[in-house]
Amino acid sequence: MRNDINASIKLTNGVEIPALGLGVWKVEDEGELRIAVKAALRAGYRHIDTAAVYGNEDMVGRAVEDFCDRKDIFITTKLWNTEHERAEAAFEKSLKNLRTDYVDLYLIHWPSPAVGNYVAAWKTLADLYKSGRARAVGVSNFHAGHIEKAADAAGFLPHMDQVERHPLFQQKDLEIYCRKNNIALTAYSPLGSGRLDQMAPKLQTLADKYGKTAAQIILRWQFQTGWVFIPKSVKPERISENAHIFDFELSGDDMDYIAALDCGTRFAHDADSAQF
Ligand code: NDP
Repeated sequence: MRNDINASIKLTNGVEIPALGLGVWKVEDEGELRIAVKAALRAGYRHIDTAAVYGNEDMVGRAVEDFCDRKDIFITTKLWNTEHERAEAAFEKSLKNLRTDYVDLYLIHWPSPAVGNYVAAWKTLADLYKSGRARAVGVSNFHAGHIEKAADAAGFLPHMDQVERHPLFQQKDLEIYCRKNNIALTAYSPLGSGRLDQMAPKLQTLADKYGKTAAQIILRWQFQTGWVFIPKSVKPERISENAHIFDFELSGDDMDYIAALDCGTRFAHDADSAQF
C-alpha cells in the first residue's frame, strides 16, 4: 500500500477506497460544512462520509459540485433504519440530495433489529450494486452474526463494515472475522468522537517521540493496521493535522503499546441493544 495522502484500500471487487476520509456527522451548518470540505480537498482528502440521517447530504452534494469533479471524490452514504424496507426509494433520495447518479459506497447504517429489517435491506443493496449505481455496498455497526444472516439470505457478502474503532475500543474479534471473509473495515469515531482527552495522556510519550499530536498518533495507528478512517472536524487546521500522518511510521513496539490500550470502552451504541 502506498504511504501518502492518496493511500487506498482495495475492496474485493477492485474498487479503491481512500484510506482517509472526512466525516461530517453533526455538521448542520452549511457554511461550516463548505469550509470543512474546502479545507479537506486542499489537504488532499478524496473521500467524504455522510448519511441520510445526518441531514447534510444535500450540503455535501452542493459542496462537491462547487469545489471538485464528482469523479475525483469517493462518497459514502448510508441507509437509515426506518427505511430498510424502502431501501431503493431511500437510495434514490440520497442520490438526488448528493446531486449524483451513483455513490461509491452505500451502507446499511445499523442492523436495527428493533425497528428495521436488515435482511430485506441487504437484498436491495445487493441489487443496487448489481445495477452499478453503488460502486460498492456494505454495512455499518454489524456484528459477525448480522453479516452472516444477511449474507446467507442474499448470497452476497458486504464489501465493507464500518464500525466504532479507536485505541480504547479496537474491535479485534470483528477484525479477525472480516479479514477472514475479505470484508474491509472502516473506523468511525476514530478519535473517540470528541473524547480524545481520554486517550491523549496515554499517547503523549509517543506524540513527543514522533513530534506529532495524539490525534496524529491514533490516525497513523489506524492507517498502519489497514483500516479506513474518517475523522470529523470542521476546523481547517485540524483537518490538515489529521492528514499529516504519512511522514512517519510507528515502530512495532509502539503499535503493540497502542494495541494494549484496548479496554472495551465503547462510546456509541451497541447494535444488539440499540432501540432505534
Ligand atoms: P471523531 O472520532 O472523528 O472525532 C471528532 C471530534 O474530534 C470532533 O469533536 C472534532 O472537533 C474533534 N477533532 C477532530 N480532529 C481533531 C484533532 N486533530 N485534535 C483534537 N480534536 C479533534 O468522531 P465522529 O464520531 O464524528 O466520527 C467520525 C465520522 O465517522 C463521523 O463524522 C461520521 O461520518 C462517521 N460515523 C459513523 C457512525 C455510524 O454509525 N456509521 C457513527 C459515528 C460516526 P472539531 O470538529 O471541533 O474539530
